[in-house]
Amino acid sequence: MSNNFLLAIPHNFSQEDSEILGRAFEFAKKAHHGQKRKSGEEYFSHSQAVAVILGQIFPNVPTLTAALLHDIPEDTQITLNKITQEFGSEVAHLVDGVTKLGKVRFHDSTDKFYVENLRKLFIATSEDIRVILIKLADRLHNMRTLEFLAHEKQLKIAKETLEMYAAIAARLGISSWKDELEDLAFKVVYPKEYAETKQLLDEESSKRDQSIKDVKKHLESSLRTEGVKFLEISGRVKRVYSLFRKLQKYNGDLSKIYDLFALRIIVRSTADCYTVLGLVHRHFQPMPGRIKDYISTPKPNGYQSIHTTVFDTSGRIFEFQIRTDLMHEEADRGIAAHWFYSEEGKPESATAFRAPWVKELRAWQDETTNAQEFLDALKIDFFRDRIFVFTPKGDIKDLPVGASVIDFAFSVHTDLGFHMMGAKINGKMASIYDELYKGDVIEIIKNKNPVKISRDWLEYAHTSNARNKIRHYLQENDKGIMRRIKELKLSDLKPTLPTFFRKK
Ligand code: MN
Repeated sequence: MSNNFLLAIPHNFSQEDSEILGRAFEFAKKAHHGQKRKSGEEYFSHSQAVAVILGQIFPNVPTLTAALLHDIPEDTQITLNKITQEFGSEVAHLVDGVTKLGKVRFHDSTDKFYVENLRKLFIATSEDIRVILIKLADRLHNMRTLEFLAHEKQLKIAKETLEMYAAIAARLGISSWKDELEDLAFKVVYPKEYAETKQLLDEESSKRDQSIKDVKKHLESSLRTEGVKFLEISGRVKRVYSLFRKLQKYNGDLSKIYDLFALRIIVRSTADCYTVLGLVHRHFQPMPGRIKDYISTPKPNGYQSIHTTVFDTSGRIFEFQIRTDLMHEEADRGIAAHWFYSEEGKPESATAFRAPWVKELRAWQDETTNAQEFLDALKIDFFRDRIFVFTPKGDIKDLPVGASVIDFAFSVHTDLGFHMMGAKINGKMASIYDELYKGDVIEIIKNKNPVKISRDWLEYAHTSNARNKIRHYLQENDKGIMRRIKELKLSDLKPTLPTFFRKK
């Protein structure tokens, strides 16, 4: 039975690894025996599905073992000790991490454990990235089977998914999971908007289908004629949630969205990417200023590709995305792909790992000689350039390292910044100039009226948001003083003029 399970994961496991996974499979199946999901299926079908989802992007044996076992301590009589005995402490540690994360609740802000739980989440995030990978796969399967729950519960889980889990998947560069989590959650949280956006997308797709096919054909034959090597050309339609967000940004104007339809060209090397770009621009009129080279400058989550917006022969706008097969895989699998390559010893291009955190991992990996050491290196703080702090109500604020109370206040609300006269950090009085650290809870003490902001604030404000607002205030304030001076009549000033100005 575990054979089908192993076949569902695109990886050649060694005999030894197959045996471990087979054992975990049978162990979990027995542990959950008799338990049913809301759908009526055997509970174990969930554990299995989570491991299969995870296996698509991260076929690492201890992590897959833990995925199979992830609901055992919470939902069965079998203890973590037993798991340690059977599968060792590494697997048990991962299962324990997932169990703890399962207790985290996000949206019930009247819950006094709210803030504490969020902290736990982020601490767990920084301790071992594999716990988060299992939790994301778990959430993805729960989202796929959400329809069996009561509506209220669906709503709560979907909101949490949209705000928390999809965001984490995005941060880790796992776009395949991020996209699916977003679309599944969007449908539940905003059903009306989902239906409208989906309809819009479907209508446009049917109108554009033929022209996209024509462009693809045209391009394929040009690439062949000119002897440019490529692996694959495929069409991609923008995801519903992604379109919705972009439409909001452009006030619903569909004509402003240039990447509704894209053709992806997958090639073997970075050099080929630029060759293809040249060819594309010779055959299709590019839109000026719309070439985005994420190969030379990757996105912060590591995404690499060249995007260019062009017109087809009938003047319709669409986008080309050019990337290597490696970049393509990394776009889907993010951090998980990186691990996979290092384990498989696959070739990699010199530019494949440009994201700062990925680069950092590379450096570690070069220094480490065995997989265990590399795994330990994975346990770094992926949010090391950011800190997560909390409002007294438990809302999270994501700020750069070194941020101060001033940055925090302006990130909550501009007005809060302008009325701030003091602050408490973790319940203790603090200066508004104090630096914040991971997990701090900050309460801003407000003045009734706007306070006078001094130039010193600029020195302690590190976010561009706070700096811009303070600068603007200072400029307006200076202008205000000049204006008031101008408005004053000379006679008003007279009594204060020094005697030597007065007429004798
Ligand atoms: Mn689960």
